[in-house]
Amino acid sequence: MAHAFRLGDLLQSLSQVIQVPRPCVVCEQRAWRYGVCELCLLELAQQRQTGQRCPHCCVLLPSHGGCRDCAVRPLQVEQVFVAWDYQGDAEVLIQAYKGRQQQWLASVMAEALYQQIVAGWPSRPAVVQVVAIPASATALRQRGFNPAAEIAKRVAKQLQQPYAIGQLCSVGGQPSTGQKQRSRQQRLTGQAPAWHCAPLPVGSTVLVVDDVLTTGSTLQHAATLCRQAGAQHVYAAVVARTPWRDYF
Ligand SMILES: [Zn+2]
Ligand SMILES: [Zn+2]
Repeated sequence: MAHAFRLGDLLQSLSQVIQVPRPCVVCEQRAWRYGVCELCLLELAQQRQTGQRCPHCCVLLPSHGGCRDCAVRPLQVEQVFVAWDYQGDAEVLIQAYKGRQQQWLASVMAEALYQQIVAGWPSRPAVVQVVAIPASATALRQRGFNPAAEIAKRVAKQLQQPYAIGQLCSVGGQPSTGQKQRSRQQRLTGQAPAWHCAPLPVGSTVLVVDDVLTTGSTLQHAATLCRQAGAQHVYAAVVARTPWRDYF
């Protein structure tokens, strides 16, 4: 039995290295080595191009009026880069990544995010510290990986920028309550998760990476800690931004 487990682990590792074609998680028809087929990736990119967005938090705006989120509680980051809206195919993809532990999907998400960062931030400084939002201890045990960290390290590699594992981390050995278990109201008003940010170069520019942006409370907290740790400018990059569902 022990041998069977070791063989399974070996095959899993090999499939990561040699990029075995897998059924597309969105259409389940065509196979592609990163788990999403070219056609579905194209549709996701097209979905991203629809409508007007808030220039600050990147939420898809209704046909009239400005961003109500930024009017009430602006994010304390310079700018947010977003690959997709958290709906439709993007929601399917992220749920497969986080809910079904399909870790290899990090590559397509990182690539889509990288494209948005390069296009939306042409005058970025020579050095940008890439930081991942930490996972709670419970989520780490359940998934075996930190979804934000897998994306962050790939984005950092493509940008050719430094990425330090655990730059931002949970403290005290206490499993913090994951965002999934916290209601919108709790996220907005509740106690911030117990995180620690290791010292950053004074005056540095940081890019905080996460998978989904909903209320922004997680990013807000991360940005505050990064500034306290030495950063001067904090940017954010998230794979998917939750749209205002009451408008669509
Ligand atoms: Zn597909
Ligand atoms: Zn906004």
